[in-house]
Amino acid sequence: MKKGFVAITGASSGIGAATAQLFIDKGHNVLLIARREERLASFTGEHVKKAIIDVTDKAALTKAIQEAEATFGPVEAIVNNAGRMLLGDVSVQDEKEWKEMYDVNVLGVLNGMQAVLPSMIERKTGTIVNISSIAGKKTFGDHAAYVGTKFAVHSMSENVREEVAAHNVRVVTIAPGVVETELLSHTTSDVIKNNYTDWKHSIQGGLTPQTVAEAIYFAFSQPQGVNIREIALAPTQQQA
Ligand code: NDP
Repeated sequence: MKKGFVAITGASSGIGAATAQLFIDKGHNVLLIARREERLASFTGEHVKKAIIDVTDKAALTKAIQEAEATFGPVEAIVNNAGRMLLGDVSVQDEKEWKEMYDVNVLGVLNGMQAVLPSMIERKTGTIVNISSIAGKKTFGDHAAYVGTKFAVHSMSENVREEVAAHNVRVVTIAPGVVETELLSHTTSDVIKNNYTDWKHSIQGGLTPQTVAEAIYFAFSQPQGVNIREIALAPTQQQA
């Protein structure tokens, strides 16, 4: 069996599931991380390990990486993709939604980076791919708390990239525009959801998750001496 593996958080739907399938198709061992076990059921075989955990549980995430290393060998890459988008108007939005997004989108990414960095720094190789957003580069109405989490992903990624560059470890930021996934469905305001859906239709819909997965794989598959620092990609008709 090929040595090493790629860890993907949020592998149970959308961009994470498409990324998982692509890495499997390309012959990699994978560690698939999510909370909904049933949504990982279609991923099977000796190249697949699963961890049914929450990325906000740092100890569980670190243990899952260590257990996969015992099976497959060293972690080659982690795709920190798990995320929540609870759009809202800050003047009325329930603060529990802010906390949930910051816990998953920001602390979850920090947990993912710390779970792999000691091993990568020691071995002087490895790749961290953090999934941010165009909402990590600019603002959108009713996105304030979410935008904050994604600006954090951009800035943390760039900071860590500078810190680990001398160790030959790559940090890549992926910034998609709108993608056709379940992400919007967790937003609680129907008005905001309907506005978002109308806007998406006005630009002829979002990217497919597979398109984003291909961008992730493109960055990963470069020689270790090449770091594609950031890929921003969006539907052509998306203006903002
Ligand atoms: P989905 O809702 O389809 O996928 C989100 C994934 O994150 C699911 O697999 C979910 O799995 C997982 N997840 C959520 N919370 C946790 C948690 N606490 N612990 C572990 N896993 C968790 O949405 P997308 O595929 O669209 O989202 C993936 C990433 O892409 C997110 O970071 C999102 O912000 C980003 N993004 C998406 C865009 C879009 O338009 N769709 C645009 C730009 C960026 P489970 O519930 O099983 O745990």
